[in-house]
Parts: sequence; structure tokens; C-alpha cells
Amino acid sequence: MRKIKRIIVHHSESEGGDVDFLRYCHVHDNKWKDVGYHYVITNGKKHGDWKAGMDGMIQEGRPVEMVGAHAKGANSDSIGICVIGDFEETKPTYKQIASLSSLLIELCVKHNINPFGNILGHRDVNNTTCPGRYLYSILMPMKLFITAALWHEGQRW
Ligand SMILES: [Zn+2]
Repeated sequence: MRKIKRIIVHHSESEGGDVDFLRYCHVHDNKWKDVGYHYVITNGKKHGDWKAGMDGMIQEGRPVEMVGAHAKGANSDSIGICVIGDFEETKPTYKQIASLSSLLIELCVKHNINPFGNILGHRDVNNTTCPGRYLYSILMPMKLFITAALWHEGQRW
């Protein structure tokens, strides 16, 4: 299995939708083999005719064993998480923040990732505003919290 070293957080830049909506865009429109992200966190809102996922639901996208298609030049050693919403314009829901936090901590434990330098926003690796200012701004406190929690449990990197 490929070595996972970092986790990259994105937003969908859509009002709502779920993994099926993103999969359609990536497979049908982009002609990729599967949705580019490994996980999607829904917000309870629809996107056009596409159905909503429950607020804060974590959906699986492309299997983690497979290299994703979400951050140019940074896909081979990373996991991509897409939080549904446009976080340049709106804020993530509390449930999305809670789910993102628990997913990140679970993935850091599973793949032995030091969260501090290795949980990134898409904008940290590519020239983009993704994952939007209202999500990007909470990644730093989230990284600190996760680092402290794992350190307290005895994890050292
Ligand atoms: Zn992105």
C-alpha cells in the first residue's frame, strides 16, 4: 500500500451535493476513473437536482489505496478530503467541523501522521483559494488540537 504522509483539505465550492455529485463531475465531465477525493463531508444541502447528504456525514470516495486526483503535484502521498460548501462565502456547519476533526484524528492515527505539518489546506500546495477562508482559518486550531490530543495519548513522531 502507498505511504500516506499528509492529508489535504478541500471545499466543493458548491452550495450542497454529495459524493455522487462529485463523482459525476469527475468521471463524466473530467473523464477521470473515479471521484478525485478519498472522503467527502456533506452539509445537508442539495446541489441543483443532486441529492443532499446528511449534515456532517462522512462519505467514502476513491479508495485510500488509490492515488487521488485533488492537488496537483501532491497526490501520490496524500489523502484528499472534500468538505461540501463554498467556504469563501459561507461557514462550514458545526457538524461538518466535528466530522472533519474526527476523520482527521482517525487518519493521523491510522497512518502515523504528525498532524502539525501534514494536515494542509489545498492552498498550501497549489495556487488556489481552496478550501476557502472560512474553512482554512479553522485548520490551524484543529491541527493544534489534534496534535495535543495525540501527544497526550503518548504519540511521538
Ligand atoms: Zn481543493
